[in-house]
Amino acid sequence: MIDLDSDKKHIWHPYTSMENPLPVYPVVAAEGVRLQLEDGSRLIDGMASWWCMIHGYNHPILNHAINEQLKRMAHVMFGGLTHQPAIDLAKLLIKITPASLQKVFFADSGSVAVEVAIKMAYQYWLSLGQHQKIKLLSLRGAYHGDTFAAMSVCDPVTGMHEKFNGILAENYFAEKPASRFGEPCKKEDTSHIKGILQNHHHEIAALILEPIVQAAGGMWFYSAEYLAQIRALCDEYKVLLIADEIATGFGRTGKLFACEQAGIEPDIMCVGKALTGGYMSLAATLCNEEVSRGISLDEGVFMHGPTFMGNPLACAVASASIRLLLDSPWQENIAAIEQQLSQELMACKNYSSVNDVRVLGAIAVVEMKQAVDLAQAQQFFVSNGVWIRPFGRLVYIMPPYIIKPDELSQLTQAITKFAGL
Ligand code: PMP
Repeated sequence: MIDLDSDKKHIWHPYTSMENPLPVYPVVAAEGVRLQLEDGSRLIDGMASWWCMIHGYNHPILNHAINEQLKRMAHVMFGGLTHQPAIDLAKLLIKITPASLQKVFFADSGSVAVEVAIKMAYQYWLSLGQHQKIKLLSLRGAYHGDTFAAMSVCDPVTGMHEKFNGILAENYFAEKPASRFGEPCKKEDTSHIKGILQNHHHEIAALILEPIVQAAGGMWFYSAEYLAQIRALCDEYKVLLIADEIATGFGRTGKLFACEQAGIEPDIMCVGKALTGGYMSLAATLCNEEVSRGISLDEGVFMHGPTFMGNPLACAVASASIRLLLDSPWQENIAAIEQQLSQELMACKNYSSVNDVRVLGAIAVVEMKQAVDLAQAQQFFVSNGVWIRPFGRLVYIMPPYIIKPDELSQLTQAITKFAGL
């Protein structure tokens, strides 16, 4: 029996109270797209474990990669040492990400990859003698992680860190684009951000954004043309562009990286989540030669080096996951998922409780008019054989890419039923 009493007494779960925690469900195994709970029920996972389990659970190829690496070494420090799993992964990442990104820093989680990106931007301008460039520019509706620099670029209201206002570094926030994905960018979309850049570019080190999909800050899919215009503005005002592809990377929007939707190349890019196919915590921050050369000027060194940097097990499974993805018909799979999600969920738009329905790639969002009661919603979905964890007004799914049409229908049926309650 899983000791739920000790769990409740001693363990923090994400974003919960220790006094009045929400119920947690004991999981004992996972296979393919299904989580197996202790009571024997098998739930179809619509969340892909917070969007990272793209190939499903217990995948023989990923298990093999990790087991083979385990026979050689589980871990080794990265200071002064190197190893083939890290080199193989760096080469793969450089090959599949925008061509100008040539240097890779391995971080341990998405939030740390964002910290590293921000540090890179600061250090770049410091090396160039631009000591006044110490602010960041972000978008309303953004979410970039839970550590301090990352929190300072999350939307001050919807970005989950409102409590820390006043403690966090104060950065600039521009209105998020109102134009949806697939629509042209309207003049109003960029007028606010242009104003900030015009007035403050001399103190702004970088603009950070989630390309195309603002994920945890509101699940908003915006115009690719907007992203292209932002790249041009960053060039015009000499501000680095950081693309946080932690949620969007590795195919989620239908392109390998969401930047490709706009044909742009950022100066710095963060990847994480699906990087290891969800097997281990690993992220990476890539940058172009201009940034790395700037930081390294006058024998400058980049000041970051976590203990578990470039962990060999994580690197080995990440390379295996990327190869597995590239060897699969991932574009067709995601296009099919997208089509089915649109077909099966658009009817929810007519429900009086629903504000909006949007689908892009393997992401579907049913935005309710009222905030959802999380404990009740979890219970509802579990009793309907699926694992879906809404937040705020958003009921959404980001399933594993290997999900079959009938399994996906079970997810959409559960959402449709929930939205119509
Ligand atoms: N950036 C984005 C866009 C994310 O979606 C997340 C996680 N939801 C993060 C950063 C933080 O990643 P992690 O939880 O691995 O620290």
